[in-house]
Amino acid sequence: GNKIVQAKLVLLGDMGTGKSSLVLRFVKGQFVDHQEPTIGAAFFTQILSLDDATVKFDIWDTAGQERYHSLAPMYYRGAAAAIVVYDISSMDTFNRAKKWVQEVQRQGNPNVVMALVANKCDLDPKREVQNEDGEQYAQENGMFFMETSAKTAHNVNELFHEIAKKLAKASPSRPRG
Ligand code: GDP
Repeated sequence: GNKIVQAKLVLLGDMGTGKSSLVLRFVKGQFVDHQEPTIGAAFFTQILSLDDATVKFDIWDTAGQERYHSLAPMYYRGAAAAIVVYDISSMDTFNRAKKWVQEVQRQGNPNVVMALVANKCDLDPKREVQNEDGEQYAQENGMFFMETSAKTAHNVNELFHEIAKKLAKASPSRPRG
């Protein structure tokens, strides 16, 4: 039967890595060159239909994680999926992404589906983080890896689709009726 999975999804990572832009691209199919910074947390829902399941995402796009780090656990606790984002043109953002991965793995839901996302892959000429380094880190930490561009839409739908598939697979089928 077609199961329905409702899942809280959070995005973590440095300010400016493109978290809001990825959500905007996925939910509305849009990109804004000078995206206004999110104040507090923005909330979106989006439904993705797979062959054998429907996944309803509750997406929490958090902001000010750097300044208000103490609030972060409130967002990622109870999350079924977490997307940790860095910007390929900034090694600093990759290093901080690793800190987020470690924190969620220590304090988050033990079954959390995690993705490491190398965003802004359209900025290849300014690249500071090699694809292989992101890929290797993800593999070592049991997450999946994807290079994306919210600007060109490269791999954005694929990212959310992959998360939906993993969530559907992990959730038990419930008989209906
Ligand atoms: P957040 O703070 O992580 O939510 O980042 P934003 O979504 O606000 O994006 C920060 C800036 O990076 C904005 O000016 C975006 O237009 C830009 N940006 C986001 N994603 C991409 C991308 O894939 N490629 C490029 N070139 N710029 C991006």
